[in-house]
Amino acid sequence: MKAIAVSPGLAIGRVQKIPEQVGLDHVAREASQSDVEIEKLEVAVHKSLEEMKEIVARFEDSGQTDQAEIFEAHAMMIEDPEVIDKTVLLIREHKLSAAWAYKDTSEEYVRMLGGLEDEYLRERATDVRDIASRVLGHLLGHQGFDFKSIPEGSILVAEDITPSQMAMLDSKLVCGIVTEMGGKTSHTAIIARALEIPAIAGARGILNQVKDGSLILIDAMSGEIEIEPSSERRERFEKKRDELSKAKKDLQQFKNMKSETKDKRAIRLGANIGGPLDISSLIENDAEAVGLYRTEFVFLNQNRIPTSEEQYKIYRKVFEDLGTKHCIIRTLDIGGDKKLEGLSVATEMNPFLGLRGVRLCLEEKAIFKDQLKSILRAAVGHSVGIMVPMISNIEEILQTKAILEECKKELEKDKLQFSKDYEFGVMIEVPSAAMIVDLIARHVDFISIGTNDLTQYVCAVDRLNDKVEALYDPFNPGFLRVMNQVLGSAFKAKLHSGICGSLAHSELLVPLFIGMGVDELSMTSQHILSTRKLLRGLSYEECRVLVSEVLSLETSAEIKSHLAQFSSRIGKYNPKLEVTAAGGGEY
Ligand code: PEP
Ligand code: MG
Repeated sequence: MKAIAVSPGLAIGRVQKIPEQVGLDHVAREASQSDVEIEKLEVAVHKSLEEMKEIVARFEDSGQTDQAEIFEAHAMMIEDPEVIDKTVLLIREHKLSAAWAYKDTSEEYVRMLGGLEDEYLRERATDVRDIASRVLGHLLGHQGFDFKSIPEGSILVAEDITPSQMAMLDSKLVCGIVTEMGGKTSHTAIIARALEIPAIAGARGILNQVKDGSLILIDAMSGEIEIEPSSERRERFEKKRDELSKAKKDLQQFKNMKSETKDKRAIRLGANIGGPLDISSLIENDAEAVGLYRTEFVFLNQNRIPTSEEQYKIYRKVFEDLGTKHCIIRTLDIGGDKKLEGLSVATEMNPFLGLRGVRLCLEEKAIFKDQLKSILRAAVGHSVGIMVPMISNIEEILQTKAILEECKKELEKDKLQFSKDYEFGVMIEVPSAAMIVDLIARHVDFISIGTNDLTQYVCAVDRLNDKVEALYDPFNPGFLRVMNQVLGSAFKAKLHSGICGSLAHSELLVPLFIGMGVDELSMTSQHILSTRKLLRGLSYEECRVLVSEVLSLETSAEIKSHLAQFSSRIGKYNPKLEVTAAGGGEY
């Protein structure tokens, strides 16, 4: 079975299913002893509150105050006297059982909130539902899943894992996670990456295929899951896992070393992050900067459009946690495969060719301005680059810059402090932009190539369509010529160029990109040290020769084999450890 790898690594372990909440069907609706029911309610509320406090304390202890605040708010909602009084009334006057009375009250609340005009209040319905299922769980005597008593080395398998469940998780006991729902941007994925637990999402049907205790292996680099593997397969996988963990240990020596080639060409090695939770891993892996902060996570995990103030707080926390490290923050990249709750966009025949990235932002100017203003404010005193995705012409760059100026004027009028010395850049993901980097250079401070998208647009292959997966080929000679065109033009124009798609850590392609003149490579933090090691074994001059050799080859197979020969000449290239190029390893 193959699904979406959302947190890299390899794991082998026994399945531990997380059960879903059971309904009320088997519980009597009426109960004559009201006092007993009221006491049950009090106990359930108390237990839920205790759990919330435990979650809040955990987040506070690890310095994750944003997360702690979410659950503090949940705790307050549990104690809401209006809900409790109404439930007690139903128990006394209508002789309802505590479970049914609580269910009726919370459902009424959810309905009421769901019908409100105010979007923020409307969205609180989701929180009430989440809290209600916790209190109901206690009323029904379900202990809730005990995350502390699972056997060591378990792989959790669930329909989905809620943020509060993720918060209870002990990373010493859990060696992997597989969920039927979700994707790279789900909360589960973000927390799994922060805890460095290999995870795969979107594995539909897995719950029916495994039992508690089934042996499974998960390759959270390629997204492959194998149930009850043969002993021979298991041995091979364990060997690969051990090799990977040994390689990881060996890489520690590259911490605090310079990221430069043997002939001293310095390359900035950045991390791709989705929010404050990714910063510990960035520091652990000694990334020098953030080359891509994907801000969609701020929007997607809220299920609504966050206010400018809310965004400001999140961005500010990221910049503060990074201290003096430079951070390239990308403006909202919604559309294509990412939909935004709270923003209705007409269904499109070809969403990847539709209203995506900057196109959507220019249509939804109010959302764009809110985001730009919060970034400008948060950037005060920090080294920040603002980067715009999906640029396909100069006009979009000029429009965005004009909107930025408008934002600055409005912030001035509102007497709010904002940064004036940020850098401004664009992503090169669309062929029409790739061909005019010399012109783009006049308007921006830097570019960064989104190879995940550039590959799909140059090769005309949907990056999510399995049927054409083989054509999504970064060794395609046409694609590599486009890369050379972009990096060559930037080099000539003395424009800082980066790569922030998953090819930025490809062992085979990095030497080529160095030869083409790239200045920065940005990737999931876990790949930083291996890329630094690779870099330190290269010579820029040799890489330049490699470029001219490769660009004269006709087929992808020839190019791949030529690059593999080059890699084995300079070091120990291990194709088994190469992360799939097709975006499977990119988070
Ligand atoms: C890319 O396209 O390479 C990129 C980094 O952006 P995303 O994967 O978020 O589309
Ligand atoms: Mg992209």
